[in-house]
Amino acid sequence: MRWVAIGAACAAVAALTGCGLGGADPPRNVIILIGDGMGFNQIDMASLYQWGTSNWQVAVDPQTGAATPSPRTASQPFEDFTVQAAVSTFSVEGGYDPAMAWSDDQYLDEEPTDSAAAATALASGVKTYDAGIGVGPDGEEVALVSERAAALGKATGVVTSVPVSHATPAGFAAHDVERDHFHAITEDLLASELDVVIGAGHPFFDDDHQRTEPTYKYLSEGSWTALTGGTTPFTFLETKADFQALAAAEDPPDRVFGVSQVGTTLQARRSGELAAAPYAVPANDVPDLATLARGALNVLDQDPDGLFLMIEGGGIDWSCHDNAAGRLIEEELAFADAVQAVRDWVEEESSWDETLVIVTADHETGHLMAPGSETGWRPLTGSRGQVPAHEWGSEKHTNSLVPLFAEGTGAQLLADRADAVDPVRGPYLDNTEVGQVILDDVWGEG
Ligand SMILES: [Zn+2]
Repeated sequence: MRWVAIGAACAAVAALTGCGLGGADPPRNVIILIGDGMGFNQIDMASLYQWGTSNWQVAVDPQTGAATPSPRTASQPFEDFTVQAAVSTFSVEGGYDPAMAWSDDQYLDEEPTDSAAAATALASGVKTYDAGIGVGPDGEEVALVSERAAALGKATGVVTSVPVSHATPAGFAAHDVERDHFHAITEDLLASELDVVIGAGHPFFDDDHQRTEPTYKYLSEGSWTALTGGTTPFTFLETKADFQALAAAEDPPDRVFGVSQVGTTLQARRSGELAAAPYAVPANDVPDLATLARGALNVLDQDPDGLFLMIEGGGIDWSCHDNAAGRLIEEELAFADAVQAVRDWVEEESSWDETLVIVTADHETGHLMAPGSETGWRPLTGSRGQVPAHEWGSEKHTNSLVPLFAEGTGAQLLADRADAVDPVRGPYLDNTEVGQVILDDVWGEG
């Protein structure tokens, strides 16, 4: 592994001098958007479909390692952010070797992280084992950015397009030795200081937004009865109209727990041809991720001390596990809309001088590549309105680097941490450094 000194000196003293903040105040608000499973190629699948352009394509000669980039066009609403880097994602058991990643096609399929370990790393700065939720390698609870924000008096929330108790929102706000303990995790969320929990996992609806016999998979019957009976500290929401009203409310509730009326995902797992062009079959009539994000921000920004919000495009991962290109593109476009909603909020209700926005991923899913890339990485190509020709190398996660974009005050702290260099993706940091920057440099206890 090659290491270079770019920014290292600054990173080492940032906690003492605030050098990455350039003497500015730490951000009042931190918003992190996670495309679950969103590698570089997942982004470009959507850009090629939407605009016929791409930003991250490259041909790599597996013998020499020489990389030839395709013309770059930034077209997603996070691709013009000032800070852009790559992120390594491996769990406590793994590692990342750039030379192997670009010379041995199968290397990336070995020892990928899961979403629980990755969310915990991003939220706490600590590497853990797969399935660990807000706990370290020995199962010990670790401090989370949402908890630090609450301790600083800020409002906090998690929003997702998949079940509320799923790995990514859980890793940002709960503690459990096992990600599949959905009922206990929901109880953790209900007992936490979170002000907003919004996602899917409704017990009375299926993946097509149709009423069904109740299945208490993602929350227990007891939690459900408490939520709907009004015996929790949260205002309960479930209908599309509920969430639209929340996004527009003049006087929103102080704390909200929302479960959209779908079984697992807002859209990704609905019936119909999964690989077809986006929107080829009628979409579920439920709110989109951007609406959920607007509602969350409307609740959280009532707090004069600021806010922390995690927004997950979870359906990206579910679509990639299904090797469903059409659904992947839909989910990427929905995620981009959510990023745009956050940008609009920053520019209309806050400012980049007091807010840090981070867009990244927990890992890549599906080993998505251009046809023929097994014998040397090739660029994805395509034209507007068409699903680009592609191949899936797996139905699982990979150990690929993922992208990170950051804008606003404190964003430079993340760039300063990107002191390792991948021969193709350039400077990269580790996922734990995202949590460390927030907990140590931005919102440090000192
Ligand atoms: Zn996954």
